[in-house]
Amino acid sequence: MIIAVDGPAASGKGTIARALAAHFGLPWLDTGLLYRAVGVSAVRAGRDPNNAEDALAACDFPEALLDDPELRSEAAGKYASFVSTHPAVREALVHRQRSFAHQPGGAVLDGRDIGTIIAPDADAKLFVTASTEARAERRYRDELKTNAEADLAAILADIEDRDRRDSERASAPLKRAGDADLLDTTNLTISAAVQRAIALVEARTGKR
Ligand code: C5P
Repeated sequence: MIIAVDGPAASGKGTIARALAAHFGLPWLDTGLLYRAVGVSAVRAGRDPNNAEDALAACDFPEALLDDPELRSEAAGKYASFVSTHPAVREALVHRQRSFAHQPGGAVLDGRDIGTIIAPDADAKLFVTASTEARAERRYRDELKTNAEADLAAILADIEDRDRRDSERASAPLKRAGDADLLDTTNLTISAAVQRAIALVEARTGKR
């Protein structure tokens, strides 16, 4: 069983994908991490993530980089959204994602183009979203834990920028697949969102 979870930044898709994987006993791949690794690898090599050749050269990043906590930073998310606009970079990462999706027994993948490009044949597809304000507020509360100077307006502007880049790029833009179920988490607690996601997957697949 393949479960595709797509959606914009801070929509809750990662949390939901992890919970679905645990519930259905499937392996999980956070595909954003791959793009984050390419972005961070490019910058560390003194290259420009906005330049297609520089970004492509960073696609053979070392596996150990995927465990680096720096990949979770806001800066890494921004570099990821730069490198992810280059078709050659997306192409370089497709095989790895498709193989993960199609392993025996199936998998859960979350990202921006899982239901549309990576696994259009997925058994269940969720498009997880939330209002821009709710997403910025979540990031803000998260950042306040480590940074007393966190700035809500700056985080909101950043999220709007990222949404624009992800939705308007020519190659595999963020888009709800025609057969994806919409899950709006704006007014849901994490646990309510997870319960709803499980119910949607069960309804689509008949699996419990
Ligand atoms: O999901 P996450 O915030 O880690 O993704 C970081 C960036 O990587 C996104 O803003 C997007 O530009 C890119 N990405 C993508 N396709 C995916 C996953 C992530 O383009 N499947």
